[in-house]
Amino acid sequence: MGKQYLMTAGPTPVPERVQLAIAQPVLYHRSPAFLEVMREVHENLRWIFQTSQSVLVLAGSGTAAMEAAITNFHSRGDRVLCLRGGRFGDRWSQMCRAFQLEVVDVESEWGRAIDVDAVAEALDRHPDIRAVYATASESSTGVAHPVREIAALCRDRETLCVVDAVSALGAFDVPQDDWGIDVLVAGSQKALMCPPGLAFVGVSQKAWRFNERAGLPRFYLDLARERKNQEKSETAWTPAISLVVGLREALRMLKEEGLERVFARHRRLAEATRQACRAIGCELFAVDSPSPAVTAVKVPVGIDGSAMVKHLRARYGITIAGGQEHLKGKIFRVAHLGYYDTFDILTAISGIEMTLSDLGHSFERGAGVRAASELLRSGA
Ligand SMILES: *Cc1c(COP(=O)(O)O)cnc(C)c1O
Repeated sequence: MGKQYLMTAGPTPVPERVQLAIAQPVLYHRSPAFLEVMREVHENLRWIFQTSQSVLVLAGSGTAAMEAAITNFHSRGDRVLCLRGGRFGDRWSQMCRAFQLEVVDVESEWGRAIDVDAVAEALDRHPDIRAVYATASESSTGVAHPVREIAALCRDRETLCVVDAVSALGAFDVPQDDWGIDVLVAGSQKALMCPPGLAFVGVSQKAWRFNERAGLPRFYLDLARERKNQEKSETAWTPAISLVVGLREALRMLKEEGLERVFARHRRLAEATRQACRAIGCELFAVDSPSPAVTAVKVPVGIDGSAMVKHLRARYGITIAGGQEHLKGKIFRVAHLGYYDTFDILTAISGIEMTLSDLGHSFERGAGVRAASELLRSGA
């Protein structure tokens, strides 16, 4: 019991305005009222994707859009390059293998960014690579990968650049057209401040060319079919109507705030979180390129990370994420993407301080909150 605080890198808290929009009576998806909702959603998705291409709305979690980003652009046996340095990079590789593509992997140690030179080398070594699968913000390690540089490598080749921006879009700048990203994938439950259940795919002209020749089987997630429908604000199948209505409200909120200010807020909250964690004697896990969306932190020596996450939730009502796979018990992750502001961060840091004290970590109590509030107070 007690008040609960959600501080994970998806799902993230849903603003009241969005909750109220979702609570309205369900519209008929072929009614003029819903077609107008879809029209506005498409327009604002293009705005946040920073693209002039259509952005397709799918029903499903982010992984549905990842799957669409594979099956719509390849034929069995195509060679692809998967960039792995965490759980979501691994997912690209696993999914591409599941669809019988020839997968080449470039890996970075978890906590480090992908080495762009290694990507260039792999592309030179295998000139038949048809696509590079990258992750903008690797949620399992708190690392932002050099997507801009990776996209630039694909530009003048017959190679698509596909980016999982599920936990990046709306948190920091990933301009699809400017950077030449061919397929950009996002989801509703991260920085877009909605519940889980919607997935998005922005598709470039180059990618549509690949689509014409792509032979992998697909049906529900057939993007060409979706495009035909969504150009008329319709959808191939029954859309997740209430979630789309909620998304319209969330996108309006982001537009009111303005993209630059949204990004600046995420940068500020991320910096405050990092400084606070350092101030209480915790080392950051992301070595060279920490993500503005989520901060991964090494659990202090002698403390069990799983117990820490459990204690924080059970005792103080704050849900953060622990580490996954070999990082289980070794790191904790504080999210700051989506509907977060100053006092969410101060709450999380304060709860982390109390928890670490309870579990016997010795540090100067209050130092984290002080560091974060110094950075977050007005004018700072
Ligand atoms: C959340 C997330 C996804 C999508 O996961 P789903 O559970 O399918 O929504 C994909 N990539 C990253 C980096 C994510 O953080």
